[in-house]
Amino acid sequence: MATRVIPPRILRKLRYNTATKPFQPSLTSPTLSPPCILDQKPPSTTTLLPPAVADLNFHDVEKLFTCVSTANLLRSTAVLHATAIEPIVDVGTWLMRSELMQTDNPLRNLALAATRSTFFDHFCAGEDAITAGQSIGGLNKAGLRGMLVYGVEDAHDNEACDRNLQCFLHTVDVSRSLPPSSVSFVIVKITAICPMSLLERVSDLLRWQKKDPSFKLPWMQDSLPIFSESSPLYHTRKRPEPLTQQEESDLELANQRFLELCEKCVQANIPLLVDAEHTSVQPAIDYFTYAAAIVHNKGENPTVFGTIQTYLKDAKERLLLTSKAAEKMGIPMGFKLVRGAYMSSERKLAADLGFASPIHNSIMDTHKCFNDCTSFMLEKIADGPGGVVLATHNIESGKLAAAKAHELGIGKVNHKMEFAQLYGMSEALSFGLSNAGFQVSKYMPFGPVETVMPYLLRRAEENRGVLAASGFDRKLMRKELVRRLRAAVY
Ligand SMILES: Cc1cc2nc3c(=O)[nH]c(=O)nc-3n(C[C@H](O)[C@H](O)[C@H](O)COP(=O)(O)OP(=O)(O)OC[C@H]3O[C@@H](n4cnc5c(N)ncnc54)[C@H](O)[C@@H]3O)c2cc1C
Repeated sequence: MATRVIPPRILRKLRYNTATKPFQPSLTSPTLSPPCILDQKPPSTTTLLPPAVADLNFHDVEKLFTCVSTANLLRSTAVLHATAIEPIVDVGTWLMRSELMQTDNPLRNLALAATRSTFFDHFCAGEDAITAGQSIGGLNKAGLRGMLVYGVEDAHDNEACDRNLQCFLHTVDVSRSLPPSSVSFVIVKITAICPMSLLERVSDLLRWQKKDPSFKLPWMQDSLPIFSESSPLYHTRKRPEPLTQQEESDLELANQRFLELCEKCVQANIPLLVDAEHTSVQPAIDYFTYAAAIVHNKGENPTVFGTIQTYLKDAKERLLLTSKAAEKMGIPMGFKLVRGAYMSSERKLAADLGFASPIHNSIMDTHKCFNDCTSFMLEKIADGPGGVVLATHNIESGKLAAAKAHELGIGKVNHKMEFAQLYGMSEALSFGLSNAGFQVSKYMPFGPVETVMPYLLRRAEENRGVLAASGFDRKLMRKELVRRLRAAVY
């Protein structure tokens, strides 16, 4: 249709974006295969200063989107517009969960095909190792890296956990098969390899032990502090029964699954990042993470990274306590810092139980907590072991972190610091940070569309605010599209 009304000369220019210069990896852009975060010997500090870091230069849209084809810019703008409209997300979610999608029929296939070529392609790395590899190759060309997550849902029994483990192990194989360091992290959700009910039980027992230190947990391995003095313990109101024999044996199975995954990551030289989830199960997730970190984190660079949700009132205190304990034990600790994705369910649960919300009272407090935790971690890694992933779409936090890292002499070649955004989100921030000399990764779910869709829908629901707030990106993308159109016409 478009070819009938737009002269071929203009179409050619638009398609190949001849108005922009081809991407040339330079000193200010990450190379295709930057050394791995696990590399033992970072370059000398004289090479650490990245140029022009504090200015992320969002005004120069030509430079910002130089690696993005016009077709991709158009699709991204359209998809981001659609996902910013709440009723579209509602209808999409309803359709994907409806009876229609449960049986094989032409309408289902049509809906899946439409989803695949729009939302799925935009927010996911692909359905299999080959397409995921291609997506990561595309990112690498643009100076970014990938964090691969196999899109699986919570598990409720050992069979589901075993199946999910195979998916995570497969993710490590996929990452290993790609050019070195093009994947910065493999992601794991503990709720996919340990049954949810057991994570709740373990979290209850850990909370009770915090209330009553004489309460014995015979199965407990060495760990780092999971709670601070201000951590809310309201989920556990009465003394829980000890784990049954069956539960202890299921916990051992979950430990073995996690151990197998950690060992595979150590062999592949790819760090493992553990996602944070609801506070009802987070104590058990932290327990798994810290116990594994004690075993696997050695030397300068951590293999197992935990996640701190800075929307929680006790986040900063816990980060400080855990870091201090790890330092005392000589364990290099790595953390991903996020604001947190479960705000409404956390507030509702606390209100239902008659307790104050564990989430900061105002968004400004959350912003401050994220930025404070960022400063703390940057100072820590500037002259010591450890690592930090700053997972945010917030422009101000990105700018502040960039300025602080610059001040401390931490740049892309430091390998201890990584910025991260969700795949398909906040392209301007990702490219701005990357152009300013930082390592930037995209968090990329992958797997068959039927498997990943429930995961994506849950993420879409959790991240409604984020999807709706894609206005900054859309504005810059529109500006670049108009610029390309003008350049093609004149
Ligand atoms: C790479 C990556 C990995 C992630 N991994 C996880 C994970 O493991 N676990 C997890 O829970 N989340 C995770 N997230 C999601 C993340 O927690 C946020 O939901 C999301 O990134 C939005 O936060 P932001 O930093 O991008 O900030 P912004 O774009 O500024 O978003 C701020 C959002 O914070 C919310 N908010 C927080 N505190 C308050 C408050 N007190 N009052 C009002 N609103 C508040 C609002 O909904 C607002 O939309 C991840 C995100 C990324 C990019």
